[in-house]
Amino acid sequence: MEVKKVGVIGAGTMGNGIAHVFAVSGYDVVLMDIEESFVDKAIARITKNLDRMIKKERITEADKDATLKRITKTTSVKDLADCDIVVEAATEDYTLKQKIFKDLSSICKDGAVLASNTSSISITEIAAGTKCPEKVVGMHFMNPVPMMKLVEIVKGVQTSDETVEAVTALSEKLGKNPVLVNDYPGFVANRVLMPMINEACWTLMQGVATRDAIDTVMKLGMAHPMGPFQLADLIGLDVCLAIMEVLYEGFSDSKYRPCPLLRNMVKAGYLGRKTKRGFYTYE
Ligand code: NAD
Repeated sequence: MEVKKVGVIGAGTMGNGIAHVFAVSGYDVVLMDIEESFVDKAIARITKNLDRMIKKERITEADKDATLKRITKTTSVKDLADCDIVVEAATEDYTLKQKIFKDLSSICKDGAVLASNTSSISITEIAAGTKCPEKVVGMHFMNPVPMMKLVEIVKGVQTSDETVEAVTALSEKLGKNPVLVNDYPGFVANRVLMPMINEACWTLMQGVATRDAIDTVMKLGMAHPMGPFQLADLIGLDVCLAIMEVLYEGFSDSKYRPCPLLRNMVKAGYLGRKTKRGFYTYE
C-alpha cells in the first residue's frame, strides 16, 4: 500500500500527536474534529511541540513550516474521502466509533485502511459494522505520540494479513516500533497498565497512603518514570475509566471493577491535565 494522504479523526490529546508524527514524516494530513476551534487548538499544540524539536536541534525552522503546511483542517468527514489511511482518535466510546467507521467505509476510496487508536474497544466489533472489515485494524499509539516508540498493531478477527503488514510498515516509517497483538479487551498495554492505575485509586480511597506516597512508591520502588496518578492525569481520567469499563464488561470479571474514586473524579469533571485538574492541579 502506498500512503501519501492520511486522515486523522479527533484532534484531542492523541489526534494532535498522531497528526504531528505523520506530517513531520512527510505525509499529507487531513485533521478532523467536530468543531473548528478543537482543530485550531491541536494545530497550536503541534506548533509548540515542533518548536521544542527545533530547540533540541532535531528539526529546522524550514522543517517546521513544511510540516505545518502538510496539515489541512476540517470538520467534515467527507474531506477524508481520498485518504489512503484514516486513523481514528475520537473519544473512547463504542457507539461513536461504530458510527464513524460505518460512515468511513461508505465515504473512503476502495482499498483505504481504516485504523482506530482505541485503547480498549474491540476492533472486531467496530469492523463488523463496516463494508470492509478486512481493512479495519487497531493502530494504538502511546501518549505523548511524538515521544513514545510503541504502536500496538491490533489484529481483529476479520483483519487481513495485508492490512496488518501495511500498518506495520507504515509505523516503522514513522520511526515507531510496532508490536502485533490480538483483539482482546485492553489488548496488552491497557490490560496490564489500567488495573495498576485502578488499584492505586483503591489504595488512595481506602486511606492506605497519600497520593504522593503512592506515586513515590511506584517511581522509586519500581523504577517507573511517573507515578500512577501522574500517569492517569496524563492519559485522562475519563479515558482510564472508559478502559476499566471495557475490561470489566469484556471479561465479566469483578477484578476489573472501576474504583468509585475514579468514577467520582470523572463525574466532577476532574479529567487530568486536559482540564487542568485531576489527581494533581496544573497551571
Ligand atoms: P480526547 O478527549 O483528548 O480527544 C478526543 C477528540 O475527539 C475530541 O477533540 C473530540 O471533540 C473528538 N471527537 C468526538 N467525536 C468526534 C467525531 N464524531 N468526529 C471527530 N472528532 C470527534 O481523547 P484522547 O485522549 O485523544 O483519546 C482519543 C482516542 O485515543 C481514544 O480512543 C483513546 O482511548 C485513545 N488513546 C488515548 C490515550 C491517552 O493517553 N489519552 C492513549 C492511547 C490511546
